[in-house]
Amino acid sequence: MYNYSNEINKNREEKSMKEKIKLQSEALNSKIDSITDTNSYNETNSLLKKILKEFYADMKNLDNDEKKNVGKLINDFKNEMESLLESKKDNTNKPNADTKKVDLSIYNDNIKFGMKHPLIAVYEKMEETLVRMGFEIVQGPEIDLDRNNFEMLNMENDHPARDMQDTFYIEHPDVILRSHTSTVQIRYMETHKPPFKILSPGVVYRVDEIDAQHTPCFYQVEGLVVGEDITFSDLKGTLIAFVKGTFGDEYEVRITPSFYPYTEPSAGIDMSCVICKGKGCKTCRNTGWLRIGGAGMVHPKVFKNVGYPKETVGFAFGFGVNKFPMLYYGIPEMRTLYENDIELWKQIGGE
Ligand SMILES: [Zn+2]
Repeated sequence: MYNYSNEINKNREEKSMKEKIKLQSEALNSKIDSITDTNSYNETNSLLKKILKEFYADMKNLDNDEKKNVGKLINDFKNEMESLLESKKDNTNKPNADTKKVDLSIYNDNIKFGMKHPLIAVYEKMEETLVRMGFEIVQGPEIDLDRNNFEMLNMENDHPARDMQDTFYIEHPDVILRSHTSTVQIRYMETHKPPFKILSPGVVYRVDEIDAQHTPCFYQVEGLVVGEDITFSDLKGTLIAFVKGTFGDEYEVRITPSFYPYTEPSAGIDMSCVICKGKGCKTCRNTGWLRIGGAGMVHPKVFKNVGYPKETVGFAFGFGVNKFPMLYYGIPEMRTLYENDIELWKQIGGE
């Protein structure tokens, strides 16, 4: 006679095993989740082994069919727990949970890259062209003597041209913030003999009221060439090569008479308007030309001041740099260049 009660018991046994596996699976899952270091990993691993041992012991009470069913469940449980544990193994390379793991292989597409400030980008471009033409870069202090900034450059104390370049004075009456980088030229000439081609770039200061085209501090690039048989044609050739080399072959250079105390003859340097390419627009006041700087043959008095012989010849030129990025990017206000407005930089090519 078939023993029904035995059958029911066995079914109960199988059912309770299934429940046991389910419960242990849930419990171990959350334990594995909270593994943070070697200790908790080892602990959970031993616990899994202990549970499996108990499961195998319990299987003894089952008949073959049940063993087959429950055996499969235990096997699934074992595989699942082991692979979950494996995935936590990385955490066990550290002695404790306080050290966070940094995955250097993770790609972060949220990184913002900076860009060169438009002023510096144009400035470097100008510098690069002149260095290619053989100019040597010479730097000097931004705080200098009145002597180097004015007197030696043929602008004595009462010279009206000083008003055009009025600058900031420091407590000591003879010490000022340089109003142009020509101070560097004086310093260089007093310590070097010609021939030479130097470039003195840098920040200069003037007592200018802030408006759309003026700030009390701006960038300048100045060149000085001294040697034998230097003529005004050399100056013109250098300016043309500079403008075309920096801004492009399509730009022309125009030289008009001007006045500076330290050059004779003196010239204003114009280049064809970068906005309308010479056709005439609002920026160039319909002339097609933009004033970019001044130049001239160095005044004999300046050479005399630095102790050079009478026959010395040379030319000098200077550009204000701020104007160029304004024209390039259509920035209407000069002070915008110093405000570092991220939104503006984004518009003109940054990220
Ligand atoms: Zn124009």
